[in-house]
Amino acid sequence: MTRRISIFGATGSIGRTTVALLEAREAEAYEVVALSGGRNIALLADQARRLGARIAVTSEPACLEALEAALAGSGVRAAAGPEALEAAAAEPVDWTMSAVIGAAGLPISLAAARHGGVLALANKESLVCAGALLKQVCASAGTTLLPVDSEHSAVFQALRGERIESLERIVLTASGGPFRTWSREQMRAATPAEARTHPNWEMGERISIDSASMFNKALELIEARELFGLPPARIEAVIHPQSIVHALVGFNDGSIIAQMGPSDMTGPIGHALDWPERRPLDVDRLDFAALGRLDFEPADEDRFPALRLAREVMAAGGLAGAVFNAAKETALDGFIGGRIGFLDMATLVEHVLNELGAEAGAVAGGYGLADVMALDRTARRLGRAWVETQSGGLPWT
Ligand code: NDP
Ligand code: MG
Repeated sequence: MTRRISIFGATGSIGRTTVALLEAREAEAYEVVALSGGRNIALLADQARRLGARIAVTSEPACLEALEAALAGSGVRAAAGPEALEAAAAEPVDWTMSAVIGAAGLPISLAAARHGGVLALANKESLVCAGALLKQVCASAGTTLLPVDSEHSAVFQALRGERIESLERIVLTASGGPFRTWSREQMRAATPAEARTHPNWEMGERISIDSASMFNKALELIEARELFGLPPARIEAVIHPQSIVHALVGFNDGSIIAQMGPSDMTGPIGHALDWPERRPLDVDRLDFAALGRLDFEPADEDRFPALRLAREVMAAGGLAGAVFNAAKETALDGFIGGRIGFLDMATLVEHVLNELGAEAGAVAGGYGLADVMALDRTARRLGRAWVETQSGGLPWT
């Protein structure tokens, strides 16, 4: 059977791995409807030609001309801008990969969730910002939401065949990132180049820096809460420097099931692509004798305040996650742009949460995408204003 497939964020780290997986399969097994990218037009056009996509969309309106030129004679339609992205995501397909980075992925996830089939969700921000809305749209359209994030794919795999009522706890592992053993004083002077060097995983720049600050794990705690519904107190993070165990689930009889695999996103993406079956994947096989040991350490919430903030966001509930994520993205922009230091990121996020968290947390339900985006904009505005006060009133341009 030919499956119709769309990939959003195809030019990114997750997207490229997804494209490679498809290309390793029989061409008649799939038909690519839409591919999307941002500024990497050459790669997007190349992927669209190779996969014979029906439409290629860039999120950047200014890149439309370049995309049209790169696709000339290929028969692939070109489009640009956020509305075109959403329209492409609304095209019915059997399997969608949502792998745009940041809150920009939310409208895409929601549009894809409306048409049924499988929504393979790498964009964790969709669940962090609007978990209740996304789950409700999936439920009413009969869309299957499959996690792609390695830890959540691990939990999902460990829960196969189990009754959700017997689930007692979820433990997400974190590598600890490049600053696992650094003091706060050392982290204060950390540069973006140091922060983006992940010890185990090859990922996009933004998620790599989020791993160094543990904001990635913070998002993942909230993501796990949304996906699996356990009370926040029963969702833990533990440092596991080798990144071999991706998550552990504990049951009411004290038993634990862990999922392991190489640090390669081909595994979780392939799992979401082939679910409910498993198919052979070209990834390394673990050699336990060579590994020798697996280590676990407590996650230090004093050195990594993002984890403490995630607990506050889960306690606040409602749309506090949208505020948290927007503030985090602004902080990351500020750090990458050299406007603020590494530790300032958590201070900025805490400041914005103090301003908006309670109000956002009180939004219990009945909200729509527009409400989420409005909160997102307010949180970013507050975050940028905070950065401006830190830099002596210099405007953020
Ligand atoms: P990358 O930064 O590598 O790629 C992001 C993709 O989104 C690119 O295709 C990029 O286009 C596109 N893009 C950037 N900005 C926008 C925008 N405003 N609107 C639409 N598209 C845009 O990210 P990753 O692949 O690392 O991450 C993607 C998602 O998957 C994130 O949510 C991340 O948290 C999650 N994830 C990633 C993992 C990984 O191993 N990388 C692991 C687990 C989860 P272009 O590059 O052409 O500009
Ligand atoms: Mg992860």
